[in-house]
Amino acid sequence: MPEREILMELRSVSHSYDDGKSFALNDVSLAIETRDHISIVGKSGSGKTTLLNLLGGLDSPTQGSVCFRGQMLKNSELSAHRARQIGFVFQSYYLLPNLTATENVQVPMFESELSLSQRRLRATELLDRVGLGHRADHRPGQLSGGESQRVAIARALANSPELILADEPTGALDSESGTNVLDLLEEMKMDLEVALVVVTHDDAVAERGSRTVRLHDGSVLNDSD
Ligand code: ADP
Ligand code: MG
Repeated sequence: MPEREILMELRSVSHSYDDGKSFALNDVSLAIETRDHISIVGKSGSGKTTLLNLLGGLDSPTQGSVCFRGQMLKNSELSAHRARQIGFVFQSYYLLPNLTATENVQVPMFESELSLSQRRLRATELLDRVGLGHRADHRPGQLSGGESQRVAIARALANSPELILADEPTGALDSESGTNVLDLLEEMKMDLEVALVVVTHDDAVAERGSRTVRLHDGSVLNDSD
């Protein structure tokens, strides 16, 4: 197995949404290695989503730097970073209601070089992989919460990302569906050798990570193995 290396790093990152009057993140440093599984915990408002958004290139820090494989990400590189390296999974799935499961999985591929038929084939393979081949032509309204989150996981994998960022992925699910979704994320992490960062309120979900980072008022309270 190749050696683990640092995939992404936050270096002394602070982030303010109000021109420095207050800080949603305050001098946070964090390294994510290839094939890591990190849990991020902390009360509502502690900065968890802000941290994921900075890792995923949805926003850029007010101070400090975000690095991918040792290179500082420039603002001009954020959309390519997002599209190529990152898969997002959200609490409320964010599937497009008028598209079928296969079409939803193809959404991140629209800017890729794949032809229409290659995209369809890849989406079908990904849905098979998450155990939803038989639901490929269903729309989100016809799927259960657990099934919807599986489609969202297939979509997150569409462009073969190196890092999956999941913000409360089990927050809207009953405990059995939540466990299944976590099992699936872990299986994909192992099979595809992606790193996984999971934000959660749920201790049982957090314990599945190899490391827990606890945020409090925008700072890292502890970072334990
Ligand atoms: P968490 O995900 O842990 O609940 P967030 O990262 O969403 O925390 O929020 C951290 C802090 O930043 C909170 O005080 C929140 O109110 C503030 N915040 C988050 N997003 C925005 C935004 N888009 N505009 C202004 N303030 C925001
Ligand atoms: Mg949040």
